[in-house]
Amino acid sequence: MIATLSRPLLDALTATVGANGLLWDRGDMMAYECDGYVIEKHCPDIVVFPTTTQQVSDVVRIACAFDIPIVARGAGTGLAGGTLPVGGGMLIVLTKMTAIEEVHLRDRYAVVQAGVVNIKLNERLKGTGYHYAPDPSSQGACTIGGNTATNSGGPHTLKYGVTVNHVLGVEVVFSDGSIVRTGGPSRTPGLNLTGAIVGSEGTLAIVTRVWVRLTRLPQAVRTMLIEYGSVDEACRTIGEIIGAGIIPAALELMDQGIVRALEAAFSFGFPLDAAALLLVEVDGIEDGINQQMERVVELATECKATGVRHARDSAERQKLWKCRKLTGAAIGRLAPNYTTQDGVVPRSALPHILQYIANLSARSGIEIVNVAHAGDGNIHPNLLFDEREPDQIERVIRVGQEILEECLACGGSVSGEHGIGVEKISLMDRMFSADDLDVMRRFRNAVNPDGRLGAGKMLPTLAGCGITQSHPRRRGGL
Ligand SMILES: Cc1cc2nc3c(=O)[nH]c(=O)nc-3n(C[C@H](O)[C@H](O)[C@H](O)COP(=O)(O)OP(=O)(O)OC[C@H]3O[C@@H](n4cnc5c(N)ncnc54)[C@H](O)[C@@H]3O)c2cc1C
Repeated sequence: MIATLSRPLLDALTATVGANGLLWDRGDMMAYECDGYVIEKHCPDIVVFPTTTQQVSDVVRIACAFDIPIVARGAGTGLAGGTLPVGGGMLIVLTKMTAIEEVHLRDRYAVVQAGVVNIKLNERLKGTGYHYAPDPSSQGACTIGGNTATNSGGPHTLKYGVTVNHVLGVEVVFSDGSIVRTGGPSRTPGLNLTGAIVGSEGTLAIVTRVWVRLTRLPQAVRTMLIEYGSVDEACRTIGEIIGAGIIPAALELMDQGIVRALEAAFSFGFPLDAAALLLVEVDGIEDGINQQMERVVELATECKATGVRHARDSAERQKLWKCRKLTGAAIGRLAPNYTTQDGVVPRSALPHILQYIANLSARSGIEIVNVAHAGDGNIHPNLLFDEREPDQIERVIRVGQEILEECLACGGSVSGEHGIGVEKISLMDRMFSADDLDVMRRFRNAVNPDGRLGAGKMLPTLAGCGITQSHPRRRGGL
């Protein structure tokens, strides 16, 4: 591999990040060939681990000088292939930038480096009465830089909003190496560049530092697990709860396949005969919280719930959440491989889309188990497969695509939180008009003019698009 890397390039990078801040041996880089989207793999030519914003800037300038495409990467938990160095190039991995630099409780914000793992911030805030609200189920591993780039959601974003609602400002490195800060703890005039960068999946700039909003912990929380004999009845409850004017902190659905997988893996004591479970959490001030909870139970009962279990204390609540957040690990035991889809439908279309998925599963022979941030209409069908079987990858891709097309037909979206990456690029022109995409392209080209950052991600090329587009500038080895 070293034969394709020029000595001047290696010398320049070593002088910037040190010999320990680089990988270029193919064996060492295997962990960087893919992210959580295991269907596609591309080995980078070199992986660089900067520790400061200045180093990120210097590395980007070196990449410019040597005409190398760059992909930013956090923990690699992304599920849409956003970290794939399509056509080769350099991965800039932010996981060594892990400082929680400032915490200001009175002003309700913190400043973190991009590589801080999401849960570490809440561990740091323990006992203060505050927390950082966005809680992707991967929060034990994913980085706040990655969350910012993908505009992450999570179970509690139903009430608290997604990442963009909690990012006050960012420091970024643009594709020419310039370091720019947008937003911050106080309101700032001018174009809202922070809003544009959040969710841009590394195609506009590399995020190196984030100013995040801190949220007061609720005074009271009630968590319950509601059992149903049918998925339809569980879905109907969701509409009834929201229709009654209650916005739970979280409203998660797990189908029987997931429940069985969780039980087999962790023996939590879930009812194996339930067709679906709703994990519902309401929070707020102590006054009135029990009435809210009772109203949810009433509505669930009207929708034919077969049982309700209340978390009696914080330990039981933690247990329920632990189990919800371990679904990925449990699914991993069901088949050699799985891929998680991420579509959105209006809440009222949840029964339809889940039935559609069940029919598709039966028709295609691809087993599918479902979790959903159901309150947001955000479905996560998990497609099980074995990559060693010749046609399974193609079938899984086709089935995933059909599910997302049906989401669009229902008036929904092709991604609720995982982003577009390489996985869904071919669906962008189904969701957006040519003019919509043109504006996005023009904006990206203005700040990333040679397409060096995040090449082949998120936006289809004008010539059409496929799952594996190459970087237009890529000319072979480095
Ligand atoms: C088990 C499991 C559960 C999950 N649950 C959720 C969930 O509930 N909600 C949710 O939203 N997602 C979820 N995800 C998806 C994933 O964890 C999120 O997308 C997360 O934000 C990715 O963070 P990361 O640090 O791993 O980023 P990566 O996977 O490394 O990168 C993701 C994307 O962001 C870009 N990027 C990363 N860091 C930067 C940076 N510093 N600057 C610019 N661009 C950058 C990359 O280029 C890529 O396009 C889950 C994933 C798994 C495996």
